[in-house]
Amino acid sequence: MATTRPTWLTIDLEAVVHNFQQAQEAVGPGVEVWPVVKADGYGLGALPIVEVLDKAGASGFCVALVEEAAPLRASGLQKPISLLSGVFEGQEKAVAQLDLRAFVFNKEQAERLSEAAPAGTLIPLWIKINTGMNRLGFDPEDVASFLAEMDLLTGVWPAGLVSHLACADDVEGDVTNRQLRIMEAVLSHPEVAARQFPVSMANSAGLLAHPDTHFAWVRPGIMLYGASPFYPAPSPVELNLKPVATWTSVIMQVHDLSEGTGVGYGHSFVTGEASRIATVAVGYADGFSRHQEGRIDVLLHGRRAPVVGRVSMDMISVDVTHIPEAAEGSLVTLMGRDGEEEIPVEEIAGRMNTIPYEVFCNLGRRVPRRYLPLDD
Ligand SMILES: *Cc1c(COP(=O)(O)O)cnc(C)c1O
Repeated sequence: MATTRPTWLTIDLEAVVHNFQQAQEAVGPGVEVWPVVKADGYGLGALPIVEVLDKAGASGFCVALVEEAAPLRASGLQKPISLLSGVFEGQEKAVAQLDLRAFVFNKEQAERLSEAAPAGTLIPLWIKINTGMNRLGFDPEDVASFLAEMDLLTGVWPAGLVSHLACADDVEGDVTNRQLRIMEAVLSHPEVAARQFPVSMANSAGLLAHPDTHFAWVRPGIMLYGASPFYPAPSPVELNLKPVATWTSVIMQVHDLSEGTGVGYGHSFVTGEASRIATVAVGYADGFSRHQEGRIDVLLHGRRAPVVGRVSMDMISVDVTHIPEAAEGSLVTLMGRDGEEEIPVEEIAGRMNTIPYEVFCNLGRRVPRRYLPLDD
């Protein structure tokens, strides 16, 4: 195998398991935890994460798409897999073959799955209810009649009811309670109550902040990856979550520049004094966003150093004037801890004006992921 450029992500699987256990503790023994590993495990790598969480006791897993579920089945995963974004037309046969449980939000999806089901098999469906997110789901008042129609379809059965919380990260607000009351009204409808459906509503924020959203099973995503679903606080430390991802690169070259020298594209940065400027092997093609210009630090030799000038596709420039040890080959931490200093994903998200979810999902495909194994 060709050796790779020394820019990589380290994913701490021990920390993922720790964070999963925090979710389990928050919901207690009666509630199933189904980790959400869509978008390739929020960019960190679904397969190794599923492998450790399968062993750690996950009841099932959630992905957004059929094409995200296929590699999990190919890896030998036996546990149930839910499809959070439902089934797109043409994917019904794959849902049957891969034994997936789709969130279904209209009658046509159920009918197409019914037609696709091989004779003698039953495809389980999660009936998605729109309780207030207003993206996907049946209107609450249509649920009973849809269930009656489903009873006439062969090859499919309603496995339970699901809904998604719009504002669970808003601990004080009333939206979550309103969504809960709508779900409870659906559940108390005589046609529905008789079926004693298992229900799922909670994402990470719901399961941490709103115990009454736990129901039968919960769907934590971001907390497993060590980031807080509450922005900007409480922090992961306050939630007893461990950071999972460390992003590392190296210095390629160091230049001693005199005062008044422009650096990088557009010379958007000009040295204000004699400076040592290091070129580091990471850029926006790796997910190191260009939108952070002028607001970024990285860590070198346990100290912070500012990124100066433009972020280019494959490189950044860092002012290391105050770090005399910095030299070609020095390790640079873009995200994570170096000695006493740390750059958490929340800091990167803040300076990009986004949330940790997007920082993780944008991590470039060409950055190799290395996994710290479990000690066992
Ligand atoms: C992504 C997703 C989740 C997980 O949300 P987090 O905020 O990452 O915990 C849960 N449910 C659905 C329907 C989702 O799309």
